[in-house]
Amino acid sequence: MYAALLFLIAGEFISLHHAVSCYGCKTWACSPLQKGRSSHLSQVLQSSTRRCTSLLDSSDIDSRDIEFLTTPSSLKHLSCIEKKVSRNSESSWNDQKTAAAVGAIVFATVLGYAGDIFLGPGVSFFTSSVGGGLGWKLLGGDSVRENDIPVDGGKDKKFVVDVPARLRAILNRLSLEGHIVRKVEPKIKRGEAERLVGLIHDFEYIKSLKDACDKCLETGKPRRLRQSYSRTLVDENSYEAAMDAVGLWLHATDRVLRGGGKAFVLVRPPSHHATRSRGMGGCLVNAIACAAIHALEINGIRSVGILDVDAHFGNGIANCIEENQRIRYVSLHEHNRGMSLGGSRPEYDPRSPEEADNGPSGNICNIVLKKGEGWETYEGKLMRGLAFLKDCDILIVAAGFDAVKEDNTSGLSLVPEDFRAIGHCINKTMEKKPIVFGLEGGYTHHMGGGPEGMGGVLGDCVAEFIEGLRGV
Ligand SMILES: [Zn+2]
Repeated sequence: MYAALLFLIAGEFISLHHAVSCYGCKTWACSPLQKGRSSHLSQVLQSSTRRCTSLLDSSDIDSRDIEFLTTPSSLKHLSCIEKKVSRNSESSWNDQKTAAAVGAIVFATVLGYAGDIFLGPGVSFFTSSVGGGLGWKLLGGDSVRENDIPVDGGKDKKFVVDVPARLRAILNRLSLEGHIVRKVEPKIKRGEAERLVGLIHDFEYIKSLKDACDKCLETGKPRRLRQSYSRTLVDENSYEAAMDAVGLWLHATDRVLRGGGKAFVLVRPPSHHATRSRGMGGCLVNAIACAAIHALEINGIRSVGILDVDAHFGNGIANCIEENQRIRYVSLHEHNRGMSLGGSRPEYDPRSPEEADNGPSGNICNIVLKKGEGWETYEGKLMRGLAFLKDCDILIVAAGFDAVKEDNTSGLSLVPEDFRAIGHCINKTMEKKPIVFGLEGGYTHHMGGGPEGMGGVLGDCVAEFIEGLRGV
């Protein structure tokens, strides 16, 4: 019995390790970069004031005021995962698992006897456990994982971490903490969003994104954004969700520039890996870059700072803003994780995550973190990044929560309370300047021992961060 228990644990361990190590890397190995990107981009990016908007006197601003915003379509993007999970849970034990269980028992028995005969009686328990785990794994006992989605007609399965449940967990936690999250009309600023997306991204890419989502509508199945190698998936709701996310970012930017305080945009899909010519790492459209350009078009705004505290390199933001000296970008990211290999494939992803790469305009500041790094060293690096941004007129924060120790998509070691300290550092440095925050990564909504409905470790990180921002 002990042997059976151990081989199941060993099998699950192998499965989990595989599951968490496979997200967010090598998505660039696809078709070549579209040639002939719109040449007017840099002129447009450098354009100055376009509209008249009066800015609030900073003395009127209450730094504790944070407006939380979301759109209904954010929970629809890849909601097929949830249907898949519920279908699995109804029939979680299938023929393949039965075959794997039988195989595991055979492996455990054979290796147990072999250990007994060749290595001595005390070793058989160990060898039978290893044999059981191997048998389970080799025969596909864990082939259906919770977040696997069958794509491209069901021949292949892709593991997805950006599930609607993570956003729902955050919304629920905020509600329980007494914060009001305002649902904004999905079509808000649609025309403006499309105009800015057209400035940031290649036309061919946006067309291919829309075509991929339209095909999902026809087939009713999710698919890869590109047909080869891509790990980034879309379904029939993804284009709408991405454009609504841009619209909400623009709305929030207007909100803080006109009304002061802070706004927190709680949307999916995230932005920071989406380059000009391709979506990757679960990101489809770079709403953050759109918001930065939008802010620069408002009268009186001369410079925008972007702080990216997601654990992975924001290669997409770096690529989208690299030609604009009025935007400064700071990314704190773990070395050699996720999109950190971008610079080695310049034809697909021109910006490198290394500290030496400041971009062609010198407006990029990469701050590299080592595996296992915690607050002791993180704080100094964060303050170095904030010093690079503190003179900007508005700050945009790519708020990822995957640097927390429990998050398997990174090797960093922050604890939830450190996010309160990050909030304090941002508050202290930027004082009463307008700030827009937006959700990026963070996948620990199902981890942690807190009460159900509190959003797990992810909920703790977000709640701590907000308290820090409010100066609590
Ligand atoms: Zn991330």
